[in-house]
Amino acid sequence: MRFDLISIFPDYFTPLTLSLMGKAEDAGLVTLAAHDLRQWATGKHRSVDDTPYGGGAGMVMRADVWARALDDALATPLACENAEAATASCRRVLAIPTPSGTPLTQPVVEDLARADQIIVACGRYEGIDARVAQHYRAAGVEVLEFSIGDYVLNGGEVAAMVLTEAVARLLDGFMGNPDSLVEESHSGAGLLEYPVFTKPREFRGLVIPDVLVGGNHAAIERWRRDLAIEKTAAVRPDLALELRAESLGREDRATLAACGVAYPREGSARPVSIRHGEPGDAAQLSALAARTFPEACPPELPRAAIDAFIAAELGPDMFEAMLADSTRHRILVAQIDAHLVGYTLTIVGQGAIPPELVCPGRVEADAAYLSKCYVDAPWRGSGIADVLVEAAARDAAEHGHASLVLGTNRANKKAQAFYKRHGFRRRSTRTFDVGGVLNHDVVMVRDLTRTGNPTLA
Ligand code: SAM
Repeated sequence: MRFDLISIFPDYFTPLTLSLMGKAEDAGLVTLAAHDLRQWATGKHRSVDDTPYGGGAGMVMRADVWARALDDALATPLACENAEAATASCRRVLAIPTPSGTPLTQPVVEDLARADQIIVACGRYEGIDARVAQHYRAAGVEVLEFSIGDYVLNGGEVAAMVLTEAVARLLDGFMGNPDSLVEESHSGAGLLEYPVFTKPREFRGLVIPDVLVGGNHAAIERWRRDLAIEKTAAVRPDLALELRAESLGREDRATLAACGVAYPREGSARPVSIRHGEPGDAAQLSALAARTFPEACPPELPRAAIDAFIAAELGPDMFEAMLADSTRHRILVAQIDAHLVGYTLTIVGQGAIPPELVCPGRVEADAAYLSKCYVDAPWRGSGIADVLVEAAARDAAEHGHASLVLGTNRANKKAQAFYKRHGFRRRSTRTFDVGGVLNHDVVMVRDLTRTGNPTLA
């Protein structure tokens, strides 16, 4: 690839001959050509700028001088050309650094790495006459006006070097170990990189995480991925909302949701907050419960029985009463924008679990009872349920319970697998009558005395 860097200070580009970039040039992987714009200026003073039309501070770089330089650069013969169809197979890009340009991001850089020639026109003063970009665009040249950040530099040289290095390191053969590029920040899913460590193992009292020396490669990979997600969500929430959804696995989504970013199965990611229920939530909770409860019922249950249950147990008045009694009823909600999209209801305190769930020797009578854990259909698989159930487990532990119990329909293997991932183990069964139909549940228990999120174990 050929880089033509045009500036009134071509010496600025000397550092590009150092390090890997210098090696790449020696190896013939890149050609770096720095040009002095003044060689295309005319007159005694070889002036490249003039006062702005319309008045105002500063000077503007002249279009005619730039055009002479750029015409020459664009006419440079390239290795990709063949004699008959001179430019047919070559891609030339005219890159103009400007703080008012589009941000130079990794996807832009990845695209530029497929070009054959990049000409960078480095402005100074108030910038380059706007007709330069206009003219070359109209003439069919690929023009990229780019910015390297939301701040203003004195000239385009630093931006040109940023572009050159970011593009060149993506070229085949540039990096000694091309794997270095794979998990970098802004690559792949679009995450920032996880923290990295080297020797010594302990530095000023700071010891590297055990997982990195445990030899369990899957655990290391998971740990790194979780930390990359957490860092991205904390430092660049804008990026966390723009990840490539198809590259996110179930555990990624759970970690993202725990960091306040929910990816639905379809559509865009949204910020999600998990919080305790408040008195004003009763109406929304009741509507959410009425939406979600029927979907969790076994198919043989008559609709009338389901409706009767909803009317009796899930009305706004019932939620109002439970929200008013937080010593007994613990409600956690997941909120996206102004909408509640998921909730858990846990009964805590003495005699929390229904008598039919108590199974001496298998299910502790003093357990807390996870009565409900529901998420609206569009948000299933987004990790919201994972966060809710973990928050409910923490909350029950904080209320002095050593275990958390739940009953879930025995035919619902998906729910059982979900709870198993969250540390629940099958302990017994229960059978109960709803509208004359016998329902069979498995009873699952989670030991709350063990710390940590079992999904990450
Ligand atoms: N008057 C211009 C404006 O307000 O947008 C700023 C001109 S700046 C002082 C001079 C030159 O520095 C620009 O023409 C451009 O080449 C370069 N430059 C400054 N900030 C830049 C940035 N954030 N990204 C890319 N180039 C920048």
